[in-house]
Amino acid sequence: MPNLKKRFIAGAQCPKCQEADSIMLYGEQGVEVMECVACGYKKRQGSEPAERQAGAGDVIGVFKPE
Ligand SMILES: [Zn+2]
Repeated sequence: MPNLKKRFIAGAQCPKCQEADSIMLYGEQGVEVMECVACGYKKRQGSEPAERQAGAGDVIGVFKPE
């Protein structure tokens, strides 16, 4: 299972349900995907780092270390 490491973004707020610390970030086919574990909101990223779009920086959890 390559490229499936998931991590939470500290301080990130879901743009849909406004839940804090619920935004998860992971790679899918070379594209960063931002997903809210609270409401299921999902957004694929282009070239912009997802951390920046989510408005936060620090990773607070890693599910699958590299
Ligand atoms: Zn949400």
